[in-house]
Amino acid sequence: MKALRWHGKKDIRYDTADEPMIEHPRDAILKVSSCAICGSDLHLFDGFMPGMKSGDIMGHEFMGEVMEVGKDNHALKPGDRVVIPFTIFCGECEQCRRGNYAVCERTNRNAEAAAKLFGHSCAGLFGYTHLTGGYPGGQAEYVRVPFADTTHIRVPDSLTDEQALFLGDILPTGWQAAAQCDIESSDTVAIWGAGPVGQMALRSAMLMGAEKVVVIDRVPERLAMARDAGAITINFDEESVLDRLGDITRGKGPEKCIDAVGMESHATRSFDAIYDRVKQAVMLETDRPHVLREMIYVCRPAGILSVPGVYGGLIDKIPFGASMNKGLTWRMGQTHVKRWTDLLLGHILEGRIDPSFVITHKVGLNQGPDMYTTFRDKLDGCIKVVLKP
Ligand code: NAD
Ligand code: ZN
Ligand code: ZN
Repeated sequence: MKALRWHGKKDIRYDTADEPMIEHPRDAILKVSSCAICGSDLHLFDGFMPGMKSGDIMGHEFMGEVMEVGKDNHALKPGDRVVIPFTIFCGECEQCRRGNYAVCERTNRNAEAAAKLFGHSCAGLFGYTHLTGGYPGGQAEYVRVPFADTTHIRVPDSLTDEQALFLGDILPTGWQAAAQCDIESSDTVAIWGAGPVGQMALRSAMLMGAEKVVVIDRVPERLAMARDAGAITINFDEESVLDRLGDITRGKGPEKCIDAVGMESHATRSFDAIYDRVKQAVMLETDRPHVLREMIYVCRPAGILSVPGVYGGLIDKIPFGASMNKGLTWRMGQTHVKRWTDLLLGHILEGRIDPSFVITHKVGLNQGPDMYTTFRDKLDGCIKVVLKP
């Protein structure tokens, strides 16, 4: 079969790979009808996440048709149309029973390696480093879904692929980012990053009734898309984020701050960003936490910082004293996708949200390698890429 495979930093190829087979009685094999490139894939493409091996199949946002199921998988049958949550979950362990699916205790088959780095393991993820199980991803014609009897979302016939696909990642990720903010009707919510996750977080914060949502980025078409949904926007290349947020909130700062950027944050106006780039380049720091610093500094005391943006390792020069003395609450994590599925499916079916608005590019899987560059470099107005195997 054909698949997009990682061969090193900035080297993703449209390759031939072995077709997957049932390995465990709970598995399913899926014929992929649509898949997407996520901002998290860019961290692998750019070589910032540890634990990748040459030949790994990329992709954790995908959907399709069930071709085959293992003998203990009584929840699915061939022909079923499903979206697959990117966080693989067993549905039975203590964390799954609490709804904390992204830290399922049983689905990471390399749990020991993850625990060495993080203290504990987190759930297995598709196409996302051997620290999270090294499971082949869904940017492929076929994919094996482990724990498929629980790890799936049934798609009603009335929805197109484009309307349903993002239930597996960016829609619940944006939603969880906003939900973690406990939004009240008088709140100003500031969102760093107007990429796909920031766009979903913005629409979620609006649905949750925030008074104002401010979106920060520097890519004009992404900011325009945010304004279309009613956000106030700040271009961090052209103006001071801290000054503008102060002006918008009468000097008090936003009550809720969301980091939808993560470890590869850019900045053009600050000393700390140059410092991070140098440290990251000589491997003294794995991640660039410019957005975290800005959020701590500008957030209103007793406010909430919500971090869906991915970080992989160590960050430096975090003003933790400011965070402590201002009484800020931190909430973060990979998304507990399944926790939000029924609610979000309802929002889509009843027309309150149509996540397909974010798609700018829809092409064949064979164009995937070029699309990684187009998406990362924001060329050709690219905001979200859907690939058709
Ligand atoms: P993206 O790369 O398309 O978007 C990031 C945006 O941030 C870009 O538009 C970029 O211009 C902007 N940006 C860069 N530096 C900035 C700064 N200093 N201030 C403001 N904006 C800045 O990616 P995406 O798909 O939207 O994903 C965003 C983040 O969310 C990534 O880190 C991704 O790994 C993460 N993510 C997390 C989860 C989860 O489960 N927690 C799921 C999906 C994605
Ligand atoms: Zn993702
Ligand atoms: Zn579990």
